[in-house]
Amino acid sequence: MPELPEVETVVKGLRPLVEEKIVTGVEIREEKMIAFPKENIPAFKEELIGSKIEAVNRRGKYIIFELNNNKNMVIHLRMTGKLLVKEVKEFRDKHTHVIFSLNDGQEIRFNNIRKFGRVYLIDKNHPEQAGGLADLGPEPLSDQLTVDDFKKLFENRRALMKSLLLNQHFVAGIGNIYADEILFRSGIRPDRTADTLTESEKEKIYHNMREILQKGIIYGGTSFSDYVNAFGEKGSFQEELRVHQRQGEECYSCGTIIEKIKVSGRSTYFCPQCQK
Ligand SMILES: [Zn+2]
Repeated sequence: MPELPEVETVVKGLRPLVEEKIVTGVEIREEKMIAFPKENIPAFKEELIGSKIEAVNRRGKYIIFELNNNKNMVIHLRMTGKLLVKEVKEFRDKHTHVIFSLNDGQEIRFNNIRKFGRVYLIDKNHPEQAGGLADLGPEPLSDQLTVDDFKKLFENRRALMKSLLLNQHFVAGIGNIYADEILFRSGIRPDRTADTLTESEKEKIYHNMREILQKGIIYGGTSFSDYVNAFGEKGSFQEELRVHQRQGEECYSCGTIIEKIKVSGRSTYFCPQCQK
């Protein structure tokens, strides 16, 4: 699933291609991907067509198109979603399920093999209309999130550390890949409970979280199979991974064999020597 660095890369790619463009048409081939307004496709189209895209931003793993009509179009890519900007005449593959035509002859294509991706057209001041958007925890890369703020987030938390980092109410945007990498680089076992962490361990997580997510963005995200940016290009952070999907291989730091376990149902990779 695309995580913060992948979604940020998609947003950065979209900005120069779609900002200041007007939506001139919407084609919906898979109605279930329109999550709000629910079962009212005519209203969705009517409010979207003719609007101008003023900005594209990210919050957690959500992509937010800010429109000039008091609405935001919010897209969650989920498992296999891709947002591509193509010329109308370019080949559309069969997994293109929602198409937004723009006034410059290009179109934004929401391509989604598993059809789990979702589109919401919401009132700007009603983020709760877009699934979990209103309940997200702080942005891990925000200048406003200090190390002390981050440490306060641990109050009354007893979850396993892997689950806590995946919890979008705790912090927004982290998924399975970056959670494993943050915990490895912080020397913390993914199945430790949050209430056992020392102050200095929490600080390590804070700094590693910011460093790794930032680096993920610089590398254009992690591409194992599906993820690509708005231009259809893959990222390269998979070459930087130290534990994720490396089970059975030697740890780069100590040579111990990397293990794979399940934590709260999610595949989790760690070094039993480096992580305590
Ligand atoms: Zn190790």
